[in-house]
Amino acid sequence: MPDKKILVVEDEASIADIVRSYLVREGFSVSIAPDGTSALRMLKERFDLIILDLMLPDMDGEEICRTAREVTDAPIIMLTAKSTEDDRVTGLGLGADDYVVKPFSPRELVARIKAHLRRSDARAGSDRLSFNSSDLVINASSMEVFRQGALVPMTTTEFRLFLGLAEKPNMVFSRLQLVNIVQGYDFEGFERVVDAHIKNIRQKLGDNPRQPAYIQTVYGSGYKFIGTPDEAQG
Ligand code: CA
Repeated sequence: MPDKKILVVEDEASIADIVRSYLVREGFSVSIAPDGTSALRMLKERFDLIILDLMLPDMDGEEICRTAREVTDAPIIMLTAKSTEDDRVTGLGLGADDYVVKPFSPRELVARIKAHLRRSDARAGSDRLSFNSSDLVINASSMEVFRQGALVPMTTTEFRLFLGLAEKPNMVFSRLQLVNIVQGYDFEGFERVVDAHIKNIRQKLGDNPRQPAYIQTVYGSGYKFIGTPDEAQG
């Protein structure tokens, strides 16, 4: 996997060095952020995957994870030290894709990294998303949505919003994250704008907000897509 850029956020230099040497050997390009402040600054660049230590001197890994999720959908692998931290990571649904407990085997970390990169490559390369046994089909390049075989006409904004949700089933998106997906319109009143778009999408799909097949409201947080991806997409 050449040309893949990986950001390693880790304050312990010895661990950062080991991870770096394993990844460089695999042909990855590696950047190290020794604290949260530099991590947030470096996240202005695009990375293909982020390795994030949960315990940093200046900032909580959770906070960085949340911020990172607002700007990138790159896989995030958390490094945690204690089993109580594992509980936090699994329990909070921080938007991390995976976590590895310290001390860890660098070989296993590399294997997981490769698996995540393969998965995100497959997602990026796949033009057609299909859910609930082809009940819902989304064609990304033609920007078309089909429900039970019938075309569901959507505006460009509605389509982008819906595709953004459907690309990450079961991930809760805040309204701000959804604004970032769509981009390009006024921030003023963005929550109501997102709500209005979601309402339109639901109406067009025939998706009942009280018993949704696709878009579920997560009260106090935002929305998530709950369709079940069909196997062997592509
Ligand atoms: Ca640490």
